[in-house]
Amino acid sequence: MSQDPTIFSRIIAREIPATIVYEDDQALAFNDMYAAAPFHVLVVPKRPIVNIDAMDDDDVALFGHLVRVCKKVANEAGYSDYRVVANVGAGAGQTVFHHHFHVLAGRPLKWPPG
Ligand code: 5GP
Repeated sequence: MSQDPTIFSRIIAREIPATIVYEDDQALAFNDMYAAAPFHVLVVPKRPIVNIDAMDDDDVALFGHLVRVCKKVANEAGYSDYRVVANVGAGAGQTVFHHHFHVLAGRPLKWPPG
């Protein structure tokens, strides 16, 4: 599903505010507005890829980089136990169609999620 510019493209463009915790040339990380845990950061590619299902071979290095950003933001907040989640498609709970990893920490995280 295409939905560009999404709210995340507008955050990347600084058209709407967010609490940004990390940025580089490929990625942005910012606090989730409706945090589901004491630590809840969204890690997004600056390029608007819809979701993991839409990634192609050229995106493999980018996604590896995004995972490293997930680790970095969690570690720098003091967490070595955390959850990284990507909802892929509306049926899996995706509501913003610009790929994002959720990084959650700071409370017990049960499995399986709802
Ligand atoms: P999804 O449901 O697509 O996996 O996750 C989208 C996430 O974006 C949700 O956790 C939601 O709270 C967050 N979100 C939605 N709108 C905004 C916004 O305007 N700013 C920020 N920082 N987060 C948002």
